[in-house]
Amino acid sequence: MKIYTFDTTLRDGTQGELVSFSVDDKLLIARQLDELGIDYIEGGWPGSNPKDKEFFRRAVDLKLGHAKVTAFGSTRLAKNPVQEDRNVRALVEANTPAISIFGKSWDLHVKRALGISNELNLTLISDTVCFLKQHGKEVIYDAEHFFDGYRANPDYALRTLEAAKTCGADVLCLCDTNGGTLPSRLSEIVQEVRRRFDGVIGIHPHNDSELAVANALAAVEAGATHVQGCLNGYGERTGNANLASVIANLELKMGHETIGPEKLTTLASACRFIAELANLPLPNAQPFVGRSAFAHKGGIHVSAVLKDSATYEHIKPETVGNRQRVLVSDLSGRGNVLVKLDQHGMAGRLDEKARAELLERIKQMEYEGYELEAAEGAFELLVREALNPGVHLFEVDSYEVSTRAGGAAGESHSEASVTLRAQDGVHSATATGHGPFDALHECLRKCLSKLYPEIAGVRLTDYKVRVLDSRKGTAAKVRVLIEWSDRHRSWSTAGVSDNVIAASWKALVDAIRLELMRLMERDGSVEPAAAVR
Ligand SMILES: [Zn+2]
Repeated sequence: MKIYTFDTTLRDGTQGELVSFSVDDKLLIARQLDELGIDYIEGGWPGSNPKDKEFFRRAVDLKLGHAKVTAFGSTRLAKNPVQEDRNVRALVEANTPAISIFGKSWDLHVKRALGISNELNLTLISDTVCFLKQHGKEVIYDAEHFFDGYRANPDYALRTLEAAKTCGADVLCLCDTNGGTLPSRLSEIVQEVRRRFDGVIGIHPHNDSELAVANALAAVEAGATHVQGCLNGYGERTGNANLASVIANLELKMGHETIGPEKLTTLASACRFIAELANLPLPNAQPFVGRSAFAHKGGIHVSAVLKDSATYEHIKPETVGNRQRVLVSDLSGRGNVLVKLDQHGMAGRLDEKARAELLERIKQMEYEGYELEAAEGAFELLVREALNPGVHLFEVDSYEVSTRAGGAAGESHSEASVTLRAQDGVHSATATGHGPFDALHECLRKCLSKLYPEIAGVRLTDYKVRVLDSRKGTAAKVRVLIEWSDRHRSWSTAGVSDNVIAASWKALVDAIRLELMRLMERDGSVEPAAAVR
């Protein structure tokens, strides 16, 4: 059955604590959601702020291929006739084909929040819906707090729906606004509403009990055909239903049609795109679309998944645009290493003995505190070194770094020096930098730039430090994980030490070594003859 998808990332999503979008961001996201095949894109509340007003003004030029841009607002205020209500007029002026309008279903809210009679609240709902229908709009009526209202006073909650339906509301959307309803109870109530009303029933569940996705699916099983949520589950407090998971479940597990199988293969990249614009990391463990959603670490899992991926994967990762990953770590069996070698196109190049040695080396490094599943570049370097025994492109003799701070502003000043041996002799360099690590990076670059000009393109994109044994306080070992990129790819390397500078230095040297090893093997632009043996 066709289930309509309604994404509210641009409205409810921005009510999440860390989520904020510029108007340009919102337009880019709207286009992305349209390309994904979402049916409705709720753009904001035009009556509430100038940013949302501007979004609707500019959204007209987006010329979306599929989705209906939707404006959001509340029923008219009790004191205003509907045609004079500023918010309702802003909704009409937003110039969207569809409007979602929320009204009160819970008598407690009518009494306490609005301070009006139950009858007057019904009039606010019907006046507003009728007015919007007269303006030719598709109206999605959001019954706020419907499930809590139903529990308190079922007759009244149903009468609020009746008020909207009588005026021609196209969708009656039931909201679990406080996110406290359990799926079994929610299902009973949706079934009751389904029995009483024709047309489209919708669901808008919040995730306060971590049940928003389950509630969305339960509502569909009970007869709802319109689901509201946000890709990545952003939203007020703990968020909305994660629409990505809802869509994947509806399509792959329940046989419904939402965005269709072809667009479904772009789901993971759409989620990453939105996370990027929200400037929030996409959680690795996010179901379906996260980096770890199909990552296998335990040796038994890996050997089974290689025989048949269904042994440890609930769906095929490609169906949602994700991929299987095999991790290497001290839990690894030989299978993990083989798969990783295969991914790097090197499986056939190491004999049995070299593979066994590599596995031992990996286990030793993990024991020391490296985390090779995160530092995939460090793994690749291990493999390349195993393939080229005795090749060392450069050897560091010594490095030194000092930081001085003083003066009223407490400004610090870092200076480093490095001495290393390369094929063309001994190089020394001194450099200053924004901090000790920056100064060291600059020294290394200076020492090697003549022999290997390619390394100028390697830049740091992320730097993380993790304390490995916090009980030792400031004497604890730390693991530094650094992400790098050149123009073609990105990779990460790690260093472990009780000295944060030494750990960073190790990650830096490994990153440069790896880049040079790759150039040596692939492009031939670094000659093996240039290696120091
Ligand atoms: Zn909401």
